[in-house]
Amino acid sequence: MGIEIEKIRGLFPVLHQEVHGKPLVYFDNAATTQKPQAVLDALNNYYSTDNSNIHRGAHALADRATRYFEETREAIQLFINARESAEVLFTKGTTESINLVASAFGRKFIGSGDEIIISTLEHHSNIVPWQMLCEEKGATLKVIPINDAGEVLFDKFEKLLSPKTKLVSIVHASNALGTINPVKKVIAAAHAVGAKVLLDGAQSISHLTVDVQELDCDFLAFSAHKLYGPTGLGVLYGKREVLEAMPPYQGGGEMIKEVTFEKTTYNDIPFKFEAGTPNIGDVIAFKAALDFVNALGKDLIRAHEDELLRYANELLSQVKGFIPVGTAAEKVSVLSFNINAMHPYDVGMMLDANGIAVRTGHHCTQPLMKRLGLEGTVRASFAVYNSKSEIEKLAEGVSRIARIKN
Ligand code: PLP
Repeated sequence: MGIEIEKIRGLFPVLHQEVHGKPLVYFDNAATTQKPQAVLDALNNYYSTDNSNIHRGAHALADRATRYFEETREAIQLFINARESAEVLFTKGTTESINLVASAFGRKFIGSGDEIIISTLEHHSNIVPWQMLCEEKGATLKVIPINDAGEVLFDKFEKLLSPKTKLVSIVHASNALGTINPVKKVIAAAHAVGAKVLLDGAQSISHLTVDVQELDCDFLAFSAHKLYGPTGLGVLYGKREVLEAMPPYQGGGEMIKEVTFEKTTYNDIPFKFEAGTPNIGDVIAFKAALDFVNALGKDLIRAHEDELLRYANELLSQVKGFIPVGTAAEKVSVLSFNINAMHPYDVGMMLDANGIAVRTGHHCTQPLMKRLGLEGTVRASFAVYNSKSEIEKLAEGVSRIARIKN
């Protein structure tokens, strides 16, 4: 059985509105997904009935809040198939998760002459932290090239690997083009030279089954807000032995066992990496988002989104002046394109006038755009609540716009 689209759309209040007098068509899901009512209710419920600081309280509200908070950690453990919930750390988002690894892993394990490898497809948040670390440590950043379809060149990657490689940090699915990287192969090859691997799962987490044990990645970073959950919350998965070998990221409450002015001892993982009061309400509400995804199942979600992408390609490729950007064989439901002789921003503004929300520009991947010889693209990214009739509206809109110049 396929997705019951009207039933699913009914769970997302934000979708039921008009924009510029037209029903909203929300195709900016790679930037952030909308939230089901259950997430909004969980947030409201937490602040209405359970609000309390966690882990230290000797009262009923603190007990409840702590239990719900830790239940989300366990739900994430199951969602990504981590060995134990202690391998799941809470952060502010993918960006902070990557910065945590750059700061803590980097401080101890990256030195002068070492190498870090990323790919041309990376989001700025998986480029800049490594540039900062390399500058500080005298290490070198190497970049895996891509072909014109937007696929990494695996043979070139193999040539970059050496005993100097300490870390490979690579995006699982590209936010700008949708390309799914062959991460299992990448991880195996990196491990063969003794390097650790961080997967940027910001996009893949909502579209693909991400099994950290099966992939054998050392770290996985993602954001709750791209997985139908709240903003301001991210996850860093790390293998126990790697996390234990790393120094703490930030100092403060929660991350300590004992503090004296002479010497402080640190808490066990995950708390060693969670200094200060965490984002309790959003963590608790995120479980409702995971429950929503689990109830449907990733296979069903993927099949639906693949069909939306296929249909969008079919309709848009008939539009004169339509230029697809990123034509990898393996993709998540991201359609990047340009219209001949038009600036992406103008296309985005005209689509917005029709109630259609897309993203335009460089999508925080300026080096990728430079490699492709583009200033930017128009990006329509599809989620589980999008429908084929919305794809038809996009195709009609793009077709009308393209006729202006083509
Ligand atoms: N990596 C990728 C591939 C992304 O798409 C994004 C967000 O667009 C990020 C990293 C950064 O995520 P956040 O802004 O939630 O930290």
